[in-house]
Amino acid sequence: MATETRQESAGCTENGNSRDLMDTPSRKRRVGEVTDSISTPEKKTCSSNGRVDLNKKRSDYLEWDEYFMAVAFLSAQRSKDPSSQVGACIVNSEKKIVGIGYNGMPNGCSDDKLPWSRTAENRLDTKYPYVCHAELNAILNKNSADVKGCTMYVALFPCNECAKLVIQSGIREIIFVSDKYHHTPEMTASRTLLDLAGVKYTQFVPKRQQITIAFDAINPTVTNPLASIASP
Ligand SMILES: [Zn+2]
Repeated sequence: MATETRQESAGCTENGNSRDLMDTPSRKRRVGEVTDSISTPEKKTCSSNGRVDLNKKRSDYLEWDEYFMAVAFLSAQRSKDPSSQVGACIVNSEKKIVGIGYNGMPNGCSDDKLPWSRTAENRLDTKYPYVCHAELNAILNKNSADVKGCTMYVALFPCNECAKLVIQSGIREIIFVSDKYHHTPEMTASRTLLDLAGVKYTQFVPKRQQITIAFDAINPTVTNPLASIASP
């Protein structure tokens, strides 16, 4: 099996460009092995008095894998699916995002008129015949000529239908977080197809459980006018 997990050291420069574009990411372990790699984020660069040293670059910036996976997870927040929100983010060899998507009903098909249920007596009353998976939308949303040779970051291991799309579109690697449907026929078929096509799939083990997006981080007065009065 090609499944591996990965944690990658960041290599961005001040202007956000990568200096390790062609680096081979380190592979820490295969799925199923015990790991103690979930830990707290790196400490900020601090001076002796405990304050952030503004003369040194930050050390707690997002690593590439964290960044792209976080984009996938943020995209998932757009999903209207009440039971499963999945996002996907496609990245090319230059570490540039070329496609983003999340699960939802097809364009022009009202998501108020179609069912969102997972179970029903009649399968036509469930979401499954209608919903577009995040992987499909990310591929079709591409802003480049194609996605050949790209890597897809996705929250859930892709189903067999999405594996077909990944293979046919030329994506060469999948980075996923959860494989919770591992034992279903769809995921077994997916692995069979990906293995035959030589598409690598790697589990991403996050070092931190949460990344906070604070709109007032750049300026506390933006969302809290009283902050400017409270702080000197
Ligand atoms: Zn799928």
